[in-house]
Amino acid sequence: MAVGRFAPSPTGELHIGNLRTALLAWLFARAEGSAFLVRVEDLDDRVADRAHEAGQLADLRAIGLDWDGDVVRQSERRELYDAAIDRLVAGGLTYECTCTRREIREAASAAHGEAPEGAYPGTCRRLDAAERARRAAEGRPAALRLDAQVASITFVDRVHGPYEGLVDDVVLRRNDGVPAYNLAVVVDDADQGVEEVVRGDDLLSSTPRQLHLADLLHAPRPAHAHVPLVLGPDGKRMAKRHGAVTLADRAAQGETPALVLSHLATSLGLAEPGELLTPGELVDRFDPTTLPRQPWIVDPDQL
Ligand code: GLU
Repeated sequence: MAVGRFAPSPTGELHIGNLRTALLAWLFARAEGSAFLVRVEDLDDRVADRAHEAGQLADLRAIGLDWDGDVVRQSERRELYDAAIDRLVAGGLTYECTCTRREIREAASAAHGEAPEGAYPGTCRRLDAAERARRAAEGRPAALRLDAQVASITFVDRVHGPYEGLVDDVVLRRNDGVPAYNLAVVVDDADQGVEEVVRGDDLLSSTPRQLHLADLLHAPRPAHAHVPLVLGPDGKRMAKRHGAVTLADRAAQGETPALVLSHLATSLGLAEPGELLTPGELVDRFDPTTLPRQPWIVDPDQL
């Protein structure tokens, strides 16, 4: 049996954009008879919160989504990430980085035309001994970066088709000691046997970095489907300020989770406006090849 997943970060309530991505991840998995896992990405305890986690899981259930096995929390899997980082360190594939955000910005603009936009310019990979010593004397906390040695990777996304994207010296462990998102996601997908990653297309550009990490860790590359986001009428990513965007907001207006599901299904061309269907019924109508590539632009107060 194949395995799909949804991996929310418990940093707030799920809104209709997150719920639509969750529904799509579930539909991709169930339409293929795959298992479906939920993983809570709560490594960043500055922003992750147990109350949000419980609320997010309750909202997934409320729109009729189910999952296999227990929900996994990244915060309980630190040894796995540490072990993967240790393997990369032992392979001589890492270096410490003490750059501040500002230094990275400045170095990137100074290297304009040489380093691809958005790439870490490799400053700490090339530091001479004196500069290294100077930074160490300042007591700067160090992040750990991958020495990627690869500039780009092309893969075929199930929604976007062939996509070529940047691979740079991605952070593996942040300078506060927390394993970085790109590392954790690759380790988890490999460990959980995830074969298909369905997520918002804001993450499309991080996929080449993750595929490179998977290669280095000798993990199979999962398939990817990056699905279009939900945007507000201002063209910005859906957020609280756009109006009634969460299930709780909608309930306060007298709208049931089943009707919210109906809006989501309608936006995907899977239902007529107001038609009430369960996710199981939507599976029969779901065809991944006809999924829109464009974002769903919506004013939540006009729904
Ligand atoms: N936790 C990420 C988010 O909520 C998703 C990561 C992923 O699906 O790979 O945006």
